[in-house]
Amino acid sequence: MAAMTSSARPLLNRRLAEFGTTIFAEMSALAVSTGSINLGQGFPDTDGPEEIREAAVRALREGHGNQYPPGPGIPELRTAVAAHQQRRYGLSYDPDTEVLVTAGATEAIAASLLALLEPGDEVIAFEPYYDSYAACIAMAGGRRVPVTLRPHHEDAAGFRLDLDELRDAVTDRTRLLLINTPHNPTGTVLTREELRAIADLAVERDLLVVTDEVYEHLVFDDAEHLPLATFPGMRERTVTIGSAGKTFSFTGWKVGWVTAPPGLVTAVRSAKQFLTYVASGPFQYAVAEALALPDTYFEAFRADMRAKRDLLATGLAQAGFEVFRPAGTYFITTDIRPLGEADGFAFCRALPERAGVVAIPNAVFYDHREAGAPFVRFAFCQRAEVLEEAVQRLKALAG
Ligand SMILES: *Cc1c(COP(=O)(O)O)cnc(C)c1O
Repeated sequence: MAAMTSSARPLLNRRLAEFGTTIFAEMSALAVSTGSINLGQGFPDTDGPEEIREAAVRALREGHGNQYPPGPGIPELRTAVAAHQQRRYGLSYDPDTEVLVTAGATEAIAASLLALLEPGDEVIAFEPYYDSYAACIAMAGGRRVPVTLRPHHEDAAGFRLDLDELRDAVTDRTRLLLINTPHNPTGTVLTREELRAIADLAVERDLLVVTDEVYEHLVFDDAEHLPLATFPGMRERTVTIGSAGKTFSFTGWKVGWVTAPPGLVTAVRSAKQFLTYVASGPFQYAVAEALALPDTYFEAFRADMRAKRDLLATGLAQAGFEVFRPAGTYFITTDIRPLGEADGFAFCRALPERAGVVAIPNAVFYDHREAGAPFVRFAFCQRAEVLEEAVQRLKALAG
């Protein structure tokens, strides 16, 4: 009987069957075996501020957070998150009822979708999407409805949302909009007009909104990050997700948070308590201090990343790529067609041999794979000398 059962059906359930091993594993292995510079995976090769690292060490030594912290997160961090939202955006959240600390933004996304969706509910998300969105919607039994961000080649506007396409995607079964701005992998930062239109639509169709704003501090030039929750009618229907990983360059600490009205926080916590229950005890103390760093930290971080963006963007353009200069995040999406290429998968598999650099084919972030085929993503959160070496190597493509 047991043998029949195991041979009769696959071990991985149907909800997750389409999600094999991520491309990141394949490409990172390729980077190691070929000695390539890995601009595929998006984490910095330099740790965040020394004093914040020391704050974590101090918490460990003094016995803060070495045992289960409170389920919603330590009060110091919840207060710091609320103060950050107030100081930056004028958004008021009660640290006791409207803030929830999570195991990174990843858990916040998973818990939000598991809590808020009924099987069959439709979720609208921008395509290309961050890879955990599709899997979490599937685990929650939801149906993802991608709205494709399309490249504007002519006016340097990058990848933009078509608001009519978004409106048309809403049906009677739509429960939730899953928004991401600044957007990974395209670097698009939604404008005030776009956000207002999204907000109007959410109010008109009475939709919940989950908004992933983990790159809120990584916006460049004239771009401005505007939280969706600041728009009329949005605070009461919006779950805003933040994270220390990208802002403070401690991606291994896995400290994220949710801000939302009490009903939504309670719902998300109901799912979260059975995922990790709690996480990252001592790191929560350190992140509470990080959020209170003076503006000079955030400005210096942004300036450093902008310089790296310019370095890599210029190098990629010289190597022959079409470059969509990102207004936010630490990723650059390129079009490989000027290099005479059309298939990002084949291009990325060959790139380590051709140039000693690893990148990610954006098609993995699409349901409509053909729409993403010619796009390739490079990260620029590495040290400047690493990016300079990558740029030197990529010159091989131009020759
Ligand atoms: C990195 C990333 C996350 C995950 O953040 P963690 O805090 O590391 O879990 C979520 N969303 C986007 C868009 C990201 O790029």
